[in-house]
Amino acid sequence: MRLTVDGALVDLAEEATVLSAVRVAGVELPTLCHDDRLTPVGSCRTCLVRLDGRVVAACVTPAVDGAEVRVEEEELSRLRHDAVEMIVSALPPYALEGDGELSRVCRSLGIGPQTAQGGAGRGRDHTHPFVHLDRDLCIACGRCVRMCAEVQGTFALTLVGRGSETVVAPGTGGPWVDSDCVACGGCVDTCPTGALTEPGLPIGTYLAALTRTRTTCGYCGVGCALGVLTRDGEVAGVRPAKDGPVNRGHACVKGRFAHGFLHSPERLTQPLMRGRSGLEPVSWDEALDHIARGLRAAVAEAGPDAVAAISSARATNEENYLIQKFMRVVIGTNNVDNCSRLCHSPSAAGLTAAVGLSGGTDVFEDVEQADCLLVVGANPIDAHPVVGARLLQQVLHGARLVVADPRAVGLACHADVHLRPRPGTNVALFNGLAHVLLADGLIDEEFLRLRASGLPKLTAVLGDYAPDRVAGITGVPAADLVAAARLYGQAERPAIVYGLGVTEHLHGTDGVRTLANLAILRGAVGTDHGFGVNPLRGQNNVQGASDMGALPDLLPGYGKVGDPAVRGRAEQVWGTRVPDHDGLRIPQMFAAVRSGALRVLWVVGEDVCATDPDANRVVEALETCPLVISQELFLSETARHADVVLPAASWLEKDGTFVNFDRRFQRVRPALAPPGQARTDFAIVHAIAAAYGADLGCPTPAEALAECGRVAPVFAGISHQRLDREGAIPWPCPDPGRPGEAKLYLDRFATPDGLAHLAARPYLPPGESPDDDYPLILITGRRWAHYNSGNMTRRSGNIELDPSDRLDIHPADAARHAVRDGGAVLVESRHGQAMLPARVTDEIPPGQLFCSFHFPASLANALTSDHADTVTSCPEYKVTAVRLRVIQESS
Ligand code: SF4
Repeated sequence: MRLTVDGALVDLAEEATVLSAVRVAGVELPTLCHDDRLTPVGSCRTCLVRLDGRVVAACVTPAVDGAEVRVEEEELSRLRHDAVEMIVSALPPYALEGDGELSRVCRSLGIGPQTAQGGAGRGRDHTHPFVHLDRDLCIACGRCVRMCAEVQGTFALTLVGRGSETVVAPGTGGPWVDSDCVACGGCVDTCPTGALTEPGLPIGTYLAALTRTRTTCGYCGVGCALGVLTRDGEVAGVRPAKDGPVNRGHACVKGRFAHGFLHSPERLTQPLMRGRSGLEPVSWDEALDHIARGLRAAVAEAGPDAVAAISSARATNEENYLIQKFMRVVIGTNNVDNCSRLCHSPSAAGLTAAVGLSGGTDVFEDVEQADCLLVVGANPIDAHPVVGARLLQQVLHGARLVVADPRAVGLACHADVHLRPRPGTNVALFNGLAHVLLADGLIDEEFLRLRASGLPKLTAVLGDYAPDRVAGITGVPAADLVAAARLYGQAERPAIVYGLGVTEHLHGTDGVRTLANLAILRGAVGTDHGFGVNPLRGQNNVQGASDMGALPDLLPGYGKVGDPAVRGRAEQVWGTRVPDHDGLRIPQMFAAVRSGALRVLWVVGEDVCATDPDANRVVEALETCPLVISQELFLSETARHADVVLPAASWLEKDGTFVNFDRRFQRVRPALAPPGQARTDFAIVHAIAAAYGADLGCPTPAEALAECGRVAPVFAGISHQRLDREGAIPWPCPDPGRPGEAKLYLDRFATPDGLAHLAARPYLPPGESPDDDYPLILITGRRWAHYNSGNMTRRSGNIELDPSDRLDIHPADAARHAVRDGGAVLVESRHGQAMLPARVTDEIPPGQLFCSFHFPASLANALTSDHADTVTSCPEYKVTAVRLRVIQESS
């Protein structure tokens, strides 16, 4: 389409608005009720233009081919001026303080501060820790209401009152803090007047005077791009980047607001070493010297395999690269692992075997085009809120939704079918779905003939998984199973999104394989008939930690340490021999410590005593180990059991890159300096190497990533410089001159034979099942306001929103066990005990319980078992047999 704007020719896509045309022409036109992220409403009349002679609001008027648009006309300027002047005249004088959007619009229209002469008196609501409302500044543009509905999908806000008294309010009535608000900050972000602000950035703040640092969120694996605003060495606020490839101007309560931990008085600022009176402050030289002596003694007395490191999914790629290099090159062992062992190692193993690479098959903007979503074992509304919000919008816009999860997770109430399998029965469920796909002919026979293998064996196994039998195993009604399979099977472009409810099982890798079977049977992976199989990664850089080779059997880029050609390439870059036998996995490390085989355990940024299963045995291991090194922000449970504690920088104080859940590298940049003597993990690894007498090379993070690209060709095209230019690059990206591969396997699968591999796996029972002694099944997982062991979020304002852990219990179980809402309950498993307040809710089915592990004091992981995935050793967090004892009743 082509039209003119003030005489200039403009080419436009179909369905563009007049406002887009004006912007493409580069003509300035103010807007007030408009936000590119939201449906335009044209209520404020700030963007009035003339279209072929008619005066129209540009934001809501479709552009017309051949039309003439006029912007810079005296009469139009006056109309725009008068419209805004009328709005501003009702506002109090302080409305135009600072350089907010309204102030800028007024300046552009020649409206001075004296115009704001309205009164105050409608009152404020400062009850919420992160969202403050000044009703006197509300112009009822409704941007906040649309943001909450159209982007976040919470529908927590509404406009109340009539005429000039109209004002935003929580839809529930009452104070903001008691509303349905999930504190994504979207309303604050879009409010043009300062009626909605956050505490660090009140009305009157000159944002332009603050330093803005573009970085990537250090909480979950979504990888939201954020602008961090700093003032006098402190974070004043965080703004989601509008051009963030995954978040597109959105964020959640963690990335947006949970930065208070940075200046917590509990922050570690000096190295600590175990002395007579416990952990005592020491100098860096003393700490490093002690570590180097401990490492030398262990290697001399018991060989390099007496040392092990747990690298960090919270650390950058470059830090993980350096840690694994230190272990392999300096110590001479493959004893390095990361917490993907505890979450998505079955995804890595399962997806590699099924389709070839250890990552999701499609990027999220493709998944967003799916007409049917199968969301399995994931609660993205709470655990990956920005992805959860986008999935919800997809469903609200018509995509069909199947949720498979025992709990009534956030998306479940929007699902066409909600399957609630008994914990530990996923393989039977997925085989049952595959059985229906085959029985109903909902498979892509040509794809299966040309691009997949394993159909005959799978078909033979699936004969045992007729819906009625699956119903008996899983508890999912046969009719629901059939309905779900048909929705997925009949969709034109289905996509699978899954989480830890698939992986954290005794047969987690089988779960991933049998889930991937569905996409392969449908020909919905590596084609344009669907969007594959996509794991939601938990921690910010759990994908990257594994990509960088912080794994005992895989080098950077996933080459096997047992493969001489792969080792040879690394040896050429590193100039030294790489050990050829697999190192220890995390659970094996603890066992090796207990047996005396492991003498040094170096834990980087992980609170293993809080997050690893069978926590009492983990503590026992740390207490046995001759030298435990903990690199941390706080004196975590793990740090308390360490011999040396090194103060580390947080994600807001680091330079490097993260890889998010859909394989995108993005830059991490320091917004602040680390406090006191704290150092980045990158600097700490270099310092330990230097104390040990070694030089790791790659003195900067940029050089470390460049070196990694020489070891692992799949990353060779990615560099800091390129990321600084392009923002985000998905791997594989072997060539600096070409884009990374967003959608995988369009030509061939990355398996050795180029085919997708169906897996014939029978259902096998979980490690623990309910019995007379332990009649209930405990599931653990995440809650909305907190992250992992809670070390950061519990020390931020998020603690006001979610102050304690709780045990979710179904009303029928609560009645049977005489548990009252809020009453304290002692939970006992075969492995330990935990004390939790009860929350009686039907979000959890009868016979099951749910709690998080965000509050180490409640000892949730003392309950979980050492049962682990038979392929990858990923713990069976999702199935623990427990019983209850009521300690006290709530008042
Ligand atoms: Fe985005 Fe996840 Fe950070 Fe929230 S925690 S802002 S969803 S990356």
